[in-house]
Amino acid sequence: MIKSLVVNTSFATSLFLSQSVVADWYWGEASIMGTNIEVQVWADSQAQSALAIDAVFTEMEAVNQLMSPYIASSQLAQLNAKAAKYPVIVDANLYRLISESIEFSEASNGAFDITFASVGFKYDYRQQLKPDDDQISASLEAINYQHIVLNDEDYSVYFNHPDVKIDLGGIAKGYAVDKSIEALQAMGIEHALVTAGGDTRLLGDRRGRPWLVGIRDPRNEEKQAVTIPLEDFAISTSGDYERFFEEDGTRYHHILSPKTGTSAHQVQSVSIIGPSSTINDALSTSVFVMGVEAGISLINTLPDYEAIVLDNNRKLHFSMGLTQ
Ligand code: ADP
Ligand code: MG
Repeated sequence: MIKSLVVNTSFATSLFLSQSVVADWYWGEASIMGTNIEVQVWADSQAQSALAIDAVFTEMEAVNQLMSPYIASSQLAQLNAKAAKYPVIVDANLYRLISESIEFSEASNGAFDITFASVGFKYDYRQQLKPDDDQISASLEAINYQHIVLNDEDYSVYFNHPDVKIDLGGIAKGYAVDKSIEALQAMGIEHALVTAGGDTRLLGDRRGRPWLVGIRDPRNEEKQAVTIPLEDFAISTSGDYERFFEEDGTRYHHILSPKTGTSAHQVQSVSIIGPSSTINDALSTSVFVMGVEAGISLINTLPDYEAIVLDNNRKLHFSMGLTQ
């Protein structure tokens, strides 16, 4: 459910005087899609800010209800329950996101693959549970985006292997951020920040100066590895610290290599900077799996997108546009 809190940061003490018509920055926070949502908006009044922040939470909750694998009634859960038996017709937005996910699979040489979930659901990072080697090898065959059969005529989805499961965790938050920014724009908001977990998009600037977005140090929650000034742009970070546990010196975390069914270990964090949050999100997960060399080569083919990668030796690597 939506747990929201709206706080007017700088006018908290003067609320009694003029609650309703103060142009100012307003801030809201909620927990949706299993992650922390943050919104900052410049609004003409507290009433406008409340509508704006609510619009963001509504967009996020709609994506959650449609795409969460954990909500049995969601269309994504319905796909996982039925699409290996017969084609299932889905909502146009879900259909398009699955179709885009497949394009990222092709572009990333299979590193991004929403069928990773065929083995992914056997991990439970909170309970520190993982599948054993036999369970992994038995599921590997089901991991292959080519098992997803799309029909553009009726927006139906079919899995041509009995064990296929999908999860949009690598792209849905970025998509929800894009939808949220579009909702804010439609309301006439010109300056805003929307964050869902590692995915952030900025509308306009911070009124006369850029937004400063930090990339955290993957091994120190308190420290920023890099701070980037951005306006009207988006950034997504994938890290091995979001959901993980350690056992016998190995870090088991939530980004899996589709080839092995185990956590990808070439890098500690990947940030992608570009105009679309949906694309940033998918690319950050892709590059995380691909590693420094192949990952940065992919980003160098995309003119509007840049990458900052922190490798296993804590060395930073940048795509071409950031080194020139
Ligand atoms: P987060 O903000 O949750 O850290 P990321 O963009 O880093 O999101 O993506 C991690 C999520 O992507 C995982 O929780 C999982 O749902 C999904 N995922 C994991 N491995 C892959 C993969 N190889 N391809 C596509 N999605 C993946
Ligand atoms: Mg991602």
